[in-house]
Amino acid sequence: MTRLAGIFGYPLGHSISPRFQQAAFDHCSLDVSYKAWPVATDRLEAEVRKLRDDGYLGANVTVPHKERIRSYLDDLDPLAEALGAVNTIVKEDGRLVGYNTDAHGLVEALRKDGACDPKGLSVLVLGAGGAARAAVFALVGAGVASLTIANRTLARAELLASEFEAASAAVEAVPMQEPALVGACKKADLIVNTTSMGMRHSPAEGETPLNAKTIRSQSLVYDLVYNPAETPLLAEAKAAGAKTLGGLPMLVYQGAASFELWTGRPAPIDVMFEAARRALA
Ligand code: NAP
Repeated sequence: MTRLAGIFGYPLGHSISPRFQQAAFDHCSLDVSYKAWPVATDRLEAEVRKLRDDGYLGANVTVPHKERIRSYLDDLDPLAEALGAVNTIVKEDGRLVGYNTDAHGLVEALRKDGACDPKGLSVLVLGAGGAARAAVFALVGAGVASLTIANRTLARAELLASEFEAASAAVEAVPMQEPALVGACKKADLIVNTTSMGMRHSPAEGETPLNAKTIRSQSLVYDLVYNPAETPLLAEAKAAGAKTLGGLPMLVYQGAASFELWTGRPAPIDVMFEAARRALA
């Protein structure tokens, strides 16, 4: 019997997870069909309940359900609990358990595709939403020396920074405006964009949070936006002579970690990368 897996989100028109997850299942000759499940908030609990049926393998979860979905699960992995967000649902002895693989994907991509170990670095994180939370958590956990969060809505950045008051790294919040933003850029070894600025099909498509003048050539600029591959921010970073990393590797690594949780097998990373790149071409 073909088992079902899929991704909950809303809307889901531009998700490429079905493409690279299906490629992974097919490559491993696993009889699984991975679907996009666009589900509005009022239907989420009922749809999650269906996962309890034997015909379902598990699920991914994306915006806007990563927080809300926790209350429909039986248990949370400690990292998902600490992050307050679930992106993967795994069935364990009939129980629905929530995991979060975003933080892992973010650091894995940085190390493998950005050739960057964040330990001891001075970091600037742009944005203070769900992806920023995973980024700050992952980077503080990886031993950065200091981390500045800049966000359009300063109060959100301050709230996020306040969660890390007891952390070994110095975490502070600044507005996403000059001169604070320029000052933070000047000392940053690593700049991580977690805002949706530059994202295709978003209201901020074509926009960049920084321009070449404010980016140091010694920085690595990591844009979590993966569509388009060459974002306006990465173009500015290249013009400044900085190294760059796009969001596709993180997307693939978080998905590969989900695949491994569902199947207990190593994910075919190269196959997933190839399918993801084809989906965006
Ligand atoms: P979110 O929770 O909605 O947060 C959006 C963030 O972007 C907020 O900080 C928001 O600032 C900021 N923002 C939006 N439009 C802006 C604008 N015009 N000017 C300045 N700031 C703006 O979204 P999210 O889940 O964190 O996702 C953010 C981005 O990360 C998306 O592009 C998503 O595709 C990407 N992402 C990539 C991966 C990956 O695997 N590569 C994983 C997760 C997310 P305010 O607080 O002021 O509204």
